Amino acid sequence: MKPFAYRRADDVAAAVALLSQDRHAVYLGGGTNLVDHLRLGVATPDTLVDVSRLPLGRIEELPGGGLRVGATVRNSDLAADPLVRQRYPALSQALLSGASGQLRNAATTAGNLLQRTRCVYFQDVTTACNKRDPGSGCSALGGYQRYHAILGASPECTATHPSDMAVAMAALDAVVQVVGPDGERAVPIGDFHRLPGDRPHHDTVLGHGDLVTAVDLPPLPQGMRSRYRKVRDRASYAFALVSVAAALDVRDGVVADVRIALGGVAHKPWRASRAEQELRGAPATEDSFRRAADAELAAAQPVDGNAFKVPLARNTLVATLRELTGGTPR
Ligand code: SF4
Repeated sequence: MKPFAYRRADDVAAAVALLSQDRHAVYLGGGTNLVDHLRLGVATPDTLVDVSRLPLGRIEELPGGGLRVGATVRNSDLAADPLVRQRYPALSQALLSGASGQLRNAATTAGNLLQRTRCVYFQDVTTACNKRDPGSGCSALGGYQRYHAILGASPECTATHPSDMAVAMAALDAVVQVVGPDGERAVPIGDFHRLPGDRPHHDTVLGHGDLVTAVDLPPLPQGMRSRYRKVRDRASYAFALVSVAAALDVRDGVVADVRIALGGVAHKPWRASRAEQELRGAPATEDSFRRAADAELAAAQPVDGNAFKVPLARNTLVATLRELTGGTPR
């Protein structure tokens, strides 16, 4: 492991200042992803700026019924919070489906959002990877792509975002609060993560020195129920092959409103806008759910080794919506 300096920031302004003055410094939160990367040689910073003890560890109610989740709130605490469980069950379910109990106790909200792909080539410094080493190529092309993208990929990178939490937050229209060298800003979560394009080394729209301080969860409209469903290779401690976060409001048998995000299928949590459009005003039936899933997945471009994700995503989406309408989960 390359040696690095360690600094601990006392407040947000000091953290941003410390990072801004050093191009080769990075923030350290729970460390559950970064420390792996330090060991593997994937990340080689000169300095770690520890932000894990900043006063950002609270979950607070917002006027109007939303919640503000501090950046250093641990995943296990967020999953167990009574207000989160009551108002946003999909978020609690997503968190509990991720990683292991020990990791959830250490991982933070901001770190979960910012975790990097688990593409095997990204984590193997002996292989070419445009995300780790821009311009070096993509070893996944023609290689192992079981976990890779079927939507929104580019010839430069077909990696997927590994977070469960972020998929639920995408369906919940969360807003990421950021403080950076130029001040504060709020970034809707749909604009926070990037598709790879020709710059796959940038996972998000954050610039150097930007610090995530909180995530705001707007209130879900009255009557909306939410659910997170994850399909993976084993029952625990595995990343999603496909996941679905959905919130649904059905009145008199008709879909009044719906929010859907997919995980495991793209470089970012994938908001299923086409499916939502198809569903609004449609009868809340299995036929409608299938049509909506087909509409969303019409743009899918599976690669070698992951064509199975298209029917898997379709069936998982239909099953999630069926469950939200009171049907039997299958
Ligand atoms: Fe790297 Fe992306 Fe290719 Fe994986 S898919 S090897 S992360 S460029």
